[in-house]
Amino acid sequence: MKSLHLIFNSDYLDKMEIDKSHPSCNIKSQNDIEYLFGGSLNDTTDPNLNRLITLSPIPEGVEISSVSKITLGIDFELLFNSLLCDNYLFYKHDIDGYPSLFTKDIVVSNEYDKKPIILTKIKLGETPFEWTNQEWEDGNNNKIGGNPTWVQEPEYLNCPCCKEKMKFLMQLNSDVPVNEPQELNDGRMYKDTIMFGSGGMCYVYWCDNDRISGYLWQST
Ligand SMILES: [Zn+2]
Repeated sequence: MKSLHLIFNSDYLDKMEIDKSHPSCNIKSQNDIEYLFGGSLNDTTDPNLNRLITLSPIPEGVEISSVSKITLGIDFELLFNSLLCDNYLFYKHDIDGYPSLFTKDIVVSNEYDKKPIILTKIKLGETPFEWTNQEWEDGNNNKIGGNPTWVQEPEYLNCPCCKEKMKFLMQLNSDVPVNEPQELNDGRMYKDTIMFGSGGMCYVYWCDNDRISGYLWQST
């Protein structure tokens, strides 16, 4: 699958816990297509379902053919608790690519922040060769496809329907914002960002046969 970095605008980078001068924050897009990133899905039956990204249309080079657009959205509390109860979080997508919870037996033993990521529009840009195998915490490490940046050992999920190994589809780092930055008394800016585990990475996997997305997080 082609590797495409998420490109955030300058105002949004200011809300992120990130070095915006890093070259991976300034990757060029090959077109002007914008995608919705973050926000709540305002789902009446699943109020904690928060968007990660909506790919409409599916970008060229992304190996999804069972739908023409897709929304990746999860309940952050379920994602955190899934690994604590040795379970994996899966969503089934309808023919419009919209998700609904597939894993019904996740035990919530730890309360977790359910706030959505701040909604924005992003572009995608082909990952430059030098960032093909990017280190964790090295600039903007949010991307579709390509090689995952592992915080721990490599991990893949098998589809709960066909049992085949799922494709790596996306990773998100814990630097994306859930609140506007606040100035502290000493003049420093406090940036409130999402926490995957204790501040690691979220990995998204996809089965194109069954239209199932799967989610993992790793942290130190
Ligand atoms: Zn499958």
